[in-house]
Formats: sequence, C-alpha cells, structure tokens
Amino acid sequence: MQKHFFFDLDNTLTPSKSLIEEAHISILKQLAEHADIIVVSGHGEADIRSHLTEALHGYFYTLGQNGNRAVTKGGEVLWNNSLTKEQRDAILAFIAKARASLNYVVRDENDIIEDRDSQIAFSLIGHHEDKAKKDAFDPRHEIRFKLLKDLASDVEALKAARVEVRIGGTTNLDFFEYGKNKGYNVNMFIKKMGWKNEDCIYIGDALFPGGNDETVVGVIETHAIKDYRETYDFLKKMLS
Ligand SMILES: [Mg+2]
Repeated sequence: MQKHFFFDLDNTLTPSKSLIEEAHISILKQLAEHADIIVVSGHGEADIRSHLTEALHGYFYTLGQNGNRAVTKGGEVLWNNSLTKEQRDAILAFIAKARASLNYVVRDENDIIEDRDSQIAFSLIGHHEDKAKKDAFDPRHEIRFKLLKDLASDVEALKAARVEVRIGGTTNLDFFEYGKNKGYNVNMFIKKMGWKNEDCIYIGDALFPGGNDETVVGVIETHAIKDYRETYDFLKKMLS
C-alpha cells in the first residue's frame, strides 16, 4: 500500500460541493492510521475543511485551489499563489464571452463566479443551483468541451495572459495561473515534504483528457473513479 494518498474532493471524497457522508468518515480515519491524506481541490481551504467536517479536523493536508495554497494538517501555510489583476481581468473577459456564447438564463447572477484568490471558478448554471440539476447538467462534459472548442482563440488569449482553464466539478470551468495545475503542485508538495513519487497515489473523478485531475497523470500513480462511492469501495478493499 502507498504511504501518501492524494484525493480530489468534489465527487471523489464528497458528493459535489456537499458534506462527506457520515459512513465515509471512519474509512478516512482508518486510512490515516496507515498513510498521509492530502486533499487536492479547486475549492479553497475553508471549503475543503467544512465539507470534510469537524470530525476529520487534523487528519489531512490541503492543497486548495488546485494546489495553489498548501497547508499542513496543523494549519501551517506552506505556500499561497495569488492571481494578478491582469490574470483576473483576462479570466473575467473570458467568462463574459462564454456567457454570451451560452446565452443561458441563470437563477442567480451572483452565483456564477467564485473568486478564490489563487483561482476563479465559473459555474455555467450557478454554484448553488439545485444539486440534481447540476448533476444532470453536463455529466459527460460535452457542453464544457464544446464551449472550450468554440472559444479556442479566447483560450489562447488566456494562455497569453498566463491563465490555464480546466473542466472541474459538475458545472465548472476552473481558471488559475498557467501551469500551476494539480499535477505541478502535487509534485512541488512531494518535493517539499521530501517524499518519493513512487510512494504516492492520486484518486480522482476527472482524470480524463481535459479534466482537472488529468495533470496528475505521469506525476504519480493515479486511480480513476466514477464517483465518491467508488472511492470508498476502493479504500475499503485496500484496508481490509
Ligand atoms: Mg472532482
């Protein structure tokens, strides 16, 4: 068994943007007796901690905002990369174009963009839209792939502003500093901790091409799961 377990959060450890299911808390605690747990998410540190609940406080490292803010189990900040004003402006310009291209009516105009300092998350229909609606929105990522294809020249403009865009969660596009993706930051973290890449594994639901977990492929061993239920089936099998 590996010594260090890296996990995506949304749909890997928890249902998307929701609290961990009660039955799964003890499985993670059991894993923590044998291995390090590192949570790598587009979400910020506060969201990661609240979604995994007080019960798991102190059990995991956080690599929030795709790893652009790294914090130890005890709360020490190892690094924090903020977006510049120029990068923010480029991202907001892209989102405006995307919204014009999609032409959706959304329930709450103030629920579309979340600025998380190192990352901006754009939900095509709303971060807090009804969960069933979100799950049904783009399960095969076709809407978001098509959008990125339709706006290929704008994706290039983002790149020129040193911004990377990735499909994340159930309805999101995640924007962050170019190259500072999960794969890059996981590798930085392993080096910082003095760990070995071959002792690590990454579990995620978006390891497919274009997904926000894909960049970890090749950095350490990866294990793709369809949803969070599969994650715990995998862990239970490993721990038994
Ligand atoms: Mg995910």
